[in-house]
Amino acid sequence: AKGSKFRRPACQHEHPQSPTRYFCFCGKTRDPPDDPFIVPHSCGDQCRKARLGCQHPCPLPCHPGPCPKCDLTKEVLCFCGQRSETVACANTEPQSGCEAVCGKPLGCGKHTCSQLCHAGECDPCHVQRLQACHCRKSTRKQQCSPGDGAWSCSAPCEELLDCEEHLCEEPCHVGPCSPCQFKPDLVKTCPCGKKPLVLLTPGQPRTKCTDPVPVCGAVCGRRLACGIPGHTCTAPCHTGPCVPCNKEVQVHCACGSTGSRMPCGLVHAAQASVEPQVLEHNGKEYTYPMVCNRKCGAMKSCGRHRC
Ligand SMILES: [Zn+2]
Ligand SMILES: [Zn+2]
Ligand SMILES: [Zn+2]
Ligand SMILES: [Zn+2]
Ligand SMILES: [Zn+2]
Ligand SMILES: [Zn+2]
Ligand SMILES: [Zn+2]
Ligand SMILES: [Zn+2]
Repeated sequence: AKGSKFRRPACQHEHPQSPTRYFCFCGKTRDPPDDPFIVPHSCGDQCRKARLGCQHPCPLPCHPGPCPKCDLTKEVLCFCGQRSETVACANTEPQSGCEAVCGKPLGCGKHTCSQLCHAGECDPCHVQRLQACHCRKSTRKQQCSPGDGAWSCSAPCEELLDCEEHLCEEPCHVGPCSPCQFKPDLVKTCPCGKKPLVLLTPGQPRTKCTDPVPVCGAVCGRRLACGIPGHTCTAPCHTGPCVPCNKEVQVHCACGSTGSRMPCGLVHAAQASVEPQVLEHNGKEYTYPMVCNRKCGAMKSCGRHRC
């Protein structure tokens, strides 16, 4: 018979037959009975709602408001994992850490953490060591790192090649040296590449890498280091690298008022340096970048005087 009366939470008056039906706080009972011994609108049963990060259902009797945090405790491993620590049930992480040295392996893969048991990532390895370059001719002090930490000194490798006659000319490099490029089975043509050796010296094949590579006598014609189309080697077919490009190119001073001609190879060499260069070539002196006699006129860094 009590079900025919409804008391609103904010109102102590009794209303006849509520138009809406409702559940108790914990949600297990529809239209909880009005009982003077229990909290209004509570079913009086254990709440049992699940709480975040906790396996234990809420132990309170069905109650208004959020469930309190679980007051049970549990054991978790400390940060370094060597001891266990008692924490509140809702914690997934240890809270204080133990007093031991962390000892976890560091990113370098060679050393372990020397800090005391700590939260978060270990600091990177601080060990400095002397590390040889790939060709083992130089060493330098560097931060301990994963792998062998080898570096390139960029000097010629100079390792004896597989031919056991020539030394490696590549800059200090990882891994094995390339095979000797003068080996008879690798050299099929004259140095400029135009004439096959079988036609150039028929019946007289090279047998070892120290045998000279025959030249064809025609103009070398290979593209030069400057890389400009049409700038090719004008020397007769030759072994070894081509000479720097001799083609004259137009260069200008910074203001553009004066120009002059300069061998392309010299420009190429001077551009490799940030400093202005004075270069000598066939008895002539060249300055790069070019400077003219005109006043520059640009404002100096003081902002008051002109150059
Ligand atoms: Zn309930
Ligand atoms: Zn719990
Ligand atoms: Zn609860
Ligand atoms: Zn650590
Ligand atoms: Zn080296
Ligand atoms: Zn090498
Ligand atoms: Zn040739
Ligand atoms: Zn050449």
